[in-house]
Parts: sequence; C-alpha cells; structure tokens
Amino acid sequence: MTIHPTSPYPIMIVGGGIAGLCAAALLARRGHRVLLFEKSKLPGGYARTREQEGFFFNFGAHAFYLGGPGEKILQELNIPVRGGRLRVDYGLALKENEDHRLPFGAAAFAETTLFSQAEKDELTQWYTALSQFNSAQLRGISWQTWLESNIRHASVRQFLQARARLSTNTWAPDLIDTGLIMDIFQNSSGVLFLHQGWQPLVDGLLQAAQHAGAAIITGARVAAVELAEGVVEAIRLEDGTRYPTAAVILAVDASTASSLVAEGQHDLMRRWAQQTIPSHIACFDVALRRLPNPRNVYAIGMDHPLYYAVHSTWTQLSRGNGAFVHTMRYHRHGESPSAETDKRELEALLDRLQPGWRAEVVAQSFLPHIQAVSDIVQAKRGGVTGRPGPSVPGVGGLYVAGDWVGNEDQQSGAAFASACHAVHLVSEAVVA
Ligand SMILES: Cc1cc2nc3c(=O)[nH]c(=O)nc-3n(C[C@H](O)[C@H](O)[C@H](O)COP(=O)(O)OP(=O)(O)OC[C@H]3O[C@@H](n4cnc5c(N)ncnc54)[C@H](O)[C@@H]3O)c2cc1C
Repeated sequence: MTIHPTSPYPIMIVGGGIAGLCAAALLARRGHRVLLFEKSKLPGGYARTREQEGFFFNFGAHAFYLGGPGEKILQELNIPVRGGRLRVDYGLALKENEDHRLPFGAAAFAETTLFSQAEKDELTQWYTALSQFNSAQLRGISWQTWLESNIRHASVRQFLQARARLSTNTWAPDLIDTGLIMDIFQNSSGVLFLHQGWQPLVDGLLQAAQHAGAAIITGARVAAVELAEGVVEAIRLEDGTRYPTAAVILAVDASTASSLVAEGQHDLMRRWAQQTIPSHIACFDVALRRLPNPRNVYAIGMDHPLYYAVHSTWTQLSRGNGAFVHTMRYHRHGESPSAETDKRELEALLDRLQPGWRAEVVAQSFLPHIQAVSDIVQAKRGGVTGRPGPSVPGVGGLYVAGDWVGNEDQQSGAAFASACHAVHLVSEAVVA
C-alpha cells in the first residue's frame, strides 16, 4: 500500500485520547497533513483531568510509569512530565481486618507481621530469582497457574497477586499473562504521580500536534470509514460530512474500531473486538481540607481488591492546601458489582484509615464501574504478542492504536507505543 505524498488528502485520526493525540503530534512533525476527530468536546479520553473546588480529578488514580514508551515519546516531543515519585516509607497491607506494615523496602520487609519467617524466606528467594525469569518464555501462562505451580505459601501468592493487580489495574489472575507481569516486575523504574493530574500531558500532546500543523476537531463523531476495493477511501462523520483520505488511524477501543468499518461486518476487526476483555474499577476520590491521620498515606488490600493512596503526599493536586485521597476497588472479570456495596466498602476503608474524613470533604467523585483497561493482556492469546495491529491485514491504509494494540507494554504505555508504531507504518507507506 502506497500513500502518495502528493495526495491532497490529510491522514485522518479517529479519537483524541493519548494514542490519537500522540499519533497526530508525531505524524505532523514528520510533515504529514493530519486531521484528528474527537467526539467529545474536549480531547484526552481517559487521561483527562477536571478541576473541582481547586482540586484536580483524574479518571481515578493514575500513575505514570517511568522508563516506558510514554516517557521516551514525550521526551522526543519535548513535552515535560512533571510530578512526584511514589516513595512508600510507611504503607499498610490490609488483611482480615488487621493492618500490617507493607513490605516495600528492606526495613519494612524485616519488620512486617504480614508474613511468617518461612513465608519471608520464600519471598526473598522469589526476589532473588526475579531477574532470572525469562518473561518471553512465560507468555501464554496465566498468572494464577504460574503462582500455583511456583509459590508454596498462600499468603505469598496473595501478596504477589495484589502487586500484579496494582501494576496492571486488572484483577483477573486466571486470565492475565505471566510474561507481562514478569516484564513489569523486572523492568519497573517506578511511577510518577503527575502535577495537576494528567491534563498537562494531554495539553502538551495537543499543543505539540497543533504546533506542528495538525488540525484537531472536537465534538465530531466519526460514523464510518469508507472502503473501496479493500482500501480506505474516506471517513464519514455522524452529520454526514465526508472527508476523502488514503490513510486512517483508528485510535479508539476495539469495539468502536470494528463498528466503523464495513458497518461492523469486517470479519477480522469483529474478531478483534469479540476477543477483548476489559478490566473495570470502582473509584472513589475525595479532596479533603486536611488529613485526619497524616501517617496513613498508602495501603493495599491483600484479601480484598482495594487500593488507597493519598497522592497529594507526592504531587500537587490542588491549587491551595488540602489532601487528595484515591480509593479503588478492582472488579473481577465476570463479577456483577453493586455500586452501593462498592461505595460502602470504599467509605469504610476511609473510615478505617482516615477516621473523621467526612467532616473534611471539599469535593468528591465516585465512578462506580470505569473501564481502566480496554483489553486485559491475556495468557491464552500469548500475552502482548497476541494483541492485534497496528496494521489491519487486508485493508489498505487502515491502522489501529490504543491500549489494546501492538506487542509493547500495557495501559497508557501500550497507547503511546502503538501510536508510535502506527505512525512509522503510515510514514513507510508514503513514498517519495
Ligand atoms: C481508573 C483508571 C486508572 C488508570 N490508571 C492508569 C495508570 O495508572 N497508568 C496508566 O498508564 N494508565 C492508566 N489508565 C489507563 C489510561 O488512562 C488509558 O490506557 C489511556 O488513557 C487510553 O488512551 P487511548 O487513547 O488508547 O484511549 P481513550 O482514552 O479511550 O481515547 C479514545 C478517544 O476516542 C474518542 N472516540 C471514540 N469513538 C469515537 C468516534 N466514533 N469518533 C471520534 N472520537 C471517538 C473518545 O471520546 C476518546 O477520547 C487508567 C484508566 C482508568 C480509567
């Protein structure tokens, strides 16, 4: 497939989340004409932040993974990533209504009552062996299967499951791929909580794209990608406007991507959409005037899939004073969660760690069932190597990007990496 540079038509991008904006910025900097359509009034997708009462609310707790594709691409685009690094000096592991010291770091590990000595010995062996595991060879094995075959103590398995849940925003040990988890554990360079949430990152991508000449059109829902003889010919908006083009990057989730091509009847894209399994979370975020208990800033549930962190400890999430607390309950794949039960459980978590928090609330947000990952990295599909795209075989000029695409990384890292890969493929298709 060749896209002629003399083509009067710009390259079209559908979706203005991280993947779409990143693709727009990279393509425009390479000299391509780019038109991006975003259905919402504001770009950013799940990476958007809204301000309420002087506090910055992301869509739930977001951590920026250092050392991943996002950091590399943002550097290339000269977009600064400002934030505070997570350092847990004193965290809690919550188990059976007891609080134990979270064994992050040597002193905490020695001190914690979470494990018996035999369990500590097993975990020490695991940490020592970690760098030896060949993550590529562990692709295709579910995390649960691997843990059951390799870890003797139930409480060590539980701890490693909790860590994996935290790093992937996914509670599906029977589905998630061990190769991915080992990659994350082996290559972790830490996380940043971003100043003023992820909006500066979204704004940075938007400005980079616009500065390089990309046109970003918001409030414009794409209704279809039109093909002629298996090649992209145009995109059509919901209002009927038609834009001829020779190349389209669909930076949307797999179901939306499939619905836009051949009236949802394109076999391969339908299969891609059908095989996705999303991961969901209930998020309860509270902005407080002050923290009733300043010591409790970080906690993870061991026997309950809970997350609690006062991100304002490490980063700036308000214009003035105050504390910003994130709580989350991960939903297991197949579970039918109840919003009321989840809210009660997250409120009870706050009662336990910040008694009196209700009197300090300035603003709050409850998202009962938000999609954190549009497709779990599944063992049965071979882990990241089993993910589709960015090319769409059999359709000339069509590419996909997003957290479900390509063989690199996960969550926003996969969105960045697949957008970058799609841009390389589009650029290669342009011959001078
Ligand atoms: C609670 C929560 C916690 C998370 N935590 C982390 C974390 O700690 N670390 C991390 O790396 N990632 C995290 N993520 C994931 C991260 O936010 C996403 O991976 C990333 O934002 C996805 O970007 P995207 O561009 O692939 O998709 P999206 O953000 O879904 O963007 C797609 C865009 O396409 C638009 N669109 C859809 N259909 C159309 C159409 N027909 N026409 C035009 N536009 C359309 C949508 O409006 C949207 O703006 C978290 C997500 C959530 C929800």
